[in-house]
Amino acid sequence: MNYISTRDKQATPYTFSEVLLSGLAKDGGLFVPEIYPYIDFETLRQYKELTYSQLAFTIIEMFVGNSIPKDDLKTIINKSYSHNTFKDKAVTPTKQLYKNIFLQDLSLGPSLAFKDLAMQFLGNIMEYELERQDKTMTILGASSGDTVSAAEEAMKSKSRINVVMLTPKLGMSDFQKAQAGSILEDNIFNLSIDGPFDQCQDLVKEVNNDLEFKHTYHISAVNSINWGRICAQIVYYINGYLSSVNEVGEPLDVIVPSGNFGNILAGYIAKQMGLPLRKLIVATNENKVLDTLFKTGLYKQEAVTTTSSPSMDISKASNFERLLFDCLDRDAKKCSQLMKEFQNKKQIDLSNLNNQLTHNVGFQSDSSTHIDRITCIKTIYKDTKLMIDPHTAAGLHVALKNKDSDIPMLCMETAKATKFENTIKEALGKAPKRPKQFKNLESKKQRFYHINADASSIKTFIKENINI
Ligand SMILES: *Cc1c(COP(=O)(O)O)cnc(C)c1O
Repeated sequence: MNYISTRDKQATPYTFSEVLLSGLAKDGGLFVPEIYPYIDFETLRQYKELTYSQLAFTIIEMFVGNSIPKDDLKTIINKSYSHNTFKDKAVTPTKQLYKNIFLQDLSLGPSLAFKDLAMQFLGNIMEYELERQDKTMTILGASSGDTVSAAEEAMKSKSRINVVMLTPKLGMSDFQKAQAGSILEDNIFNLSIDGPFDQCQDLVKEVNNDLEFKHTYHISAVNSINWGRICAQIVYYINGYLSSVNEVGEPLDVIVPSGNFGNILAGYIAKQMGLPLRKLIVATNENKVLDTLFKTGLYKQEAVTTTSSPSMDISKASNFERLLFDCLDRDAKKCSQLMKEFQNKKQIDLSNLNNQLTHNVGFQSDSSTHIDRITCIKTIYKDTKLMIDPHTAAGLHVALKNKDSDIPMLCMETAKATKFENTIKEALGKAPKRPKQFKNLESKKQRFYHINADASSIKTFIKENINI
C-alpha cells in the first residue's frame, strides 16, 4: 500500500513507514492511501469469528503493506490490545441501550478515552520503526484535553521517544491534570504554560517553524492527523458494526461525538471499504464548525468557546481535508487551493459539494448545548443506570432525538464519566464510582515544569532536558 498527499498527487508515493514518522507531508497536505481496500460481505461475515487483535491485524495489515514484516506487525498489535491495556476481552464492547440505540465502549484503555485505541498502537509501532531505523524522536504537542494522557500513557518508558506536552495552567479538569502530571517516567515532560490553550498551540507551531531546531531535536507530533491513528480506528467501526446488526448487509447509522474529525473519518473510510454504514452522523457541542459545514456547506473557522465537553472544543477540523480530497475526486491541486484559501480567509464555501457530502457519502450533523447534555446524562441514567460522560452525551443526545429511526444507531462512548466528575455531579447529584486504579489520583505526586509562554523558553527546556 502506498500513500499520497492531499496537496500533491504527482509526488512519489510514500510507504507506510515514511507516513508514520513524518505525520504531515512536506507540502503541508495529509497522507491518504492510494486506494481504499475493499471487503465483501462474505469476508465481513468471517470477521465475526475473530478476536479484536486478530481483526486489527487483518485490517491494519492492508494499510501497512510490505512496510513491516507480518510477524512483527502481529506482535505489535497483540501488545497494543492486550488485557493489560484494555479492561475488557472484547476491547470495544457494544451494548444495547434502547430498541435501536447501541453504545460502543471505546474508553476502556489507560486514559479512559477513545484516543487510547489509536495511541497504544501508534506508540508501539513508532518504537519499532525508530529502533529499526536507529532514530530517536521528540514528540511535541499541546492539548487541554484527553490527548496528553493518552499519548503519555502510550509513550512512557519508550527509550527512543521523549514526550513534551504543553498544557494551559488553567482549563484542564483536576482529574485530567492529575492523570498527566502523575506520569513520572523519565521520558515524559509536562510543561505548564501561563496562558490559554490557543497560545500553547501557537508555541508548538513557532518551535516547529525553526527548521534547524526541529531537525536537530527530531521534533514530531502524534496529533490526530497521523495516519497511523486513523487506520487503527477503522478496526472498531467494523467490530461495532458486526456486534450491532443481526445479518451482515443490514444498514447501520453511526453517531460520533466529534472535534478534529479523526474518529468519524475512520468510519467514513470503513464505509468506503464496503462496511454497510448508512449515515455518518457528526455530533458537535456549542463549537459548531462541523455542524454548520454539513448543514450549509460553509466551512468557517470560529473562535473557540469553552464547554463541558472540552475535547470537542475546536476552531477547525484538521482531518476534514482528507474527506474534501475524496469529494474533489482526489484533485490535489484543487484541494491545495481550497485549503490555502481557508488558511487565508478562515472560510471556504463548499456548498457545491454539500449534496455529495450529505446525500451520496451519507454525512449528517447535529449539535448540543450544555443543558442538552445534562438532560441526556439524566435520561440515560434513569433509563439504563449507566453514567455517561459529557462527550458521549453529545452523541446520545442526537440519538435520542432520532429514537424512532427505522435503522439501528451505533453511538460511540468516547470517554468515561469519571474524567468529568463536576458535570456528572451537576446532572445527577453524585459522582460516578471510580475505577480502582484512579481512587487517589489527585493526591499522587505530580510533576509539571512551569515554563514562560514564549518559544525560546521551550527550546531552552528541550535543549537542557533531552538527549539526542
Ligand atoms: C478527542 C475526543 C473527541 C473528538 O474526537 P475527534 O477525533 O477529534 O473528532 C471526542 N470525545 C472525546 C472524549 C475525545 O477525547
